[in-house]
Amino acid sequence: MTTRSWWGWGTVEDAVTPQERQHLVDRVRAVLPDADLTFHEPPAPTTLDLPKSRIQPSDLYSTDPVDRLTHARGQAYRDITRNLAGDIGPVPDAVARPRTEQDVIKVLDHCGDNGIVVIPFGGGTSVVGGVEPRGIEGPVVTLDLQGMNRVLEVDPVSRAARIQAGVLGPHLEAQLKPHGFTLRHFPQSFEFSTLGGWLATRAGGHYATVNTHIDDFAESLRVVTPVGISESRRVPGSGAGPSPDRLFLGSEGTLGVITEAWMRLQRPPAHRAGASVRFADWERAVEAVRLIAQSGLHPANCRLLDPAEAFLNAGEPGAVLVLGFESADHPVDGQLTRALELCDGEVVEGAAQRWRRSFLRMPYQRDAMAQHGMITETFETACTWDRFAELHAAVTEAATRVLGEVCGAGIATCRFTHVYPDGPAPYYGIYAPGRWGSLTGQWDEIKAAVSEAVLNAGGTITHHHAVGRDHMPWYSRQRPDVFGAALAGAKAVLDPAGVLNPGVLTTRSTAGPVPR
Ligand SMILES: Cc1cc2nc3c(=O)[nH]c(=O)nc-3n(C[C@H](O)[C@H](O)[C@H](O)COP(=O)(O)OP(=O)(O)OC[C@H]3O[C@@H](n4cnc5c(N)ncnc54)[C@H](O)[C@@H]3O)c2cc1C
Repeated sequence: MTTRSWWGWGTVEDAVTPQERQHLVDRVRAVLPDADLTFHEPPAPTTLDLPKSRIQPSDLYSTDPVDRLTHARGQAYRDITRNLAGDIGPVPDAVARPRTEQDVIKVLDHCGDNGIVVIPFGGGTSVVGGVEPRGIEGPVVTLDLQGMNRVLEVDPVSRAARIQAGVLGPHLEAQLKPHGFTLRHFPQSFEFSTLGGWLATRAGGHYATVNTHIDDFAESLRVVTPVGISESRRVPGSGAGPSPDRLFLGSEGTLGVITEAWMRLQRPPAHRAGASVRFADWERAVEAVRLIAQSGLHPANCRLLDPAEAFLNAGEPGAVLVLGFESADHPVDGQLTRALELCDGEVVEGAAQRWRRSFLRMPYQRDAMAQHGMITETFETACTWDRFAELHAAVTEAATRVLGEVCGAGIATCRFTHVYPDGPAPYYGIYAPGRWGSLTGQWDEIKAAVSEAVLNAGGTITHHHAVGRDHMPWYSRQRPDVFGAALAGAKAVLDPAGVLNPGVLTTRSTAGPVPR
């Protein structure tokens, strides 16, 4: 039995050990000898003064203060720093825990009739303010779907399963295993995020090519909206007009509550082959990855680490490419051999294992470093290959400039999390000394500067972290105005009272003329 941390990532038991903490502090001190690395304990949740709930507790609604507090925000760096500072901000008035679809309908009806906002909540691992009741005047209910967590049906012939949306990653895989299947969708947040959250945010899994987003595995969705239930037909593909599933994939709790989905399954891989390659320079490494992405080889893992990222997280000098192939059906050594032929670099041992270990500890280490006043956070995008060099230069320049202005120092690292024939998804890490008491504001300044650079260079404001409340200013500029109006129209029809997660994706709750 483990205990979820109320203020940070994961479980209390898995938080960094004293030795791990000391090692991290020593490493930072070696690079930043002047940084103030004083340690700060989080406040006890019971000492925080919550606003009084405006909702009566009932068998539908819990108004327990710790329940409300632990559903008040997600798991971004700015959420962690505010928790550490005891800055509670807006908190939902109640938490509802449906166990059946009928319970979801009951909550939506009650809230719709009484002007109460509903925020769907899966694992609460949003990093974009997606579950935070920010800027909402009236009462708010957070709808925690984790009680709806079962695999209901498996179709072994078509290889698909009907699954309830509130299931967390490990529990989902544990239920599929006896049937000999896997969903094979492993975001870094896998342990603490849910199927419904993945679908509602178009999450990106661990695999680098082919099926990168959860969208690729969704066969059909069942969604409870305030005006009725939408369930799409189970088909492997359909040209019958715009896809109903595409309307709800990425809808971030604004158009309806995803209660179930038929998901495409796979057999677990039986054949694997992998290697790590070190490159003399970053440009050569990027070129090799482009060739591999366009070769049709489809590696499962194709993670390129820039020299700073490789040094910090795999202990390797130079840019490093971690390559992996796998299949449930056939040996993949030939694919690895051909991919290595496309690399103008040197094969190195052990980097992939060191990278993997570090990858799994990153969220815990981020929180530990925040306790010492460090700014450690990530942002991500995607762009076409023809624009990558320019985008990367602009983002690195913007990051270096803003880190100098806001923190006096700091570094930005880059890795590719996913690669496509037409472009990569670069993922940036920021490491900088912050000022205790100002960490959230400092990060917000950094984030605004790099987001401007990403958008101006033709990238997307997010490849897989979703829009939430934090990305709205940039998302509103990125999407076509006509599409924004169509989305507002869909919102007005499906959620006429505007109760579902307001402030996310649409700023207008009613359809109107297209802004020009
Ligand atoms: C350390 C860390 C690592 C991460 N790694 C990844 C990664 O590798 N890939 C990636 O894509 N993301 C990653 N994320 C971001 C986050 O985990 C994803 O956005 C994830 O999909 C959110 O799932 P969740 O169940 O926690 O949803 P929540 O955070 O609870 O909700 C996210 C959004 O979806 C809505 N929502 C949730 N459930 C439903 C539902 N059933 N119906 C309708 N709307 C719903 C919410 O209202 C909210 O807008 C990471 C986050 C952290 C903190």
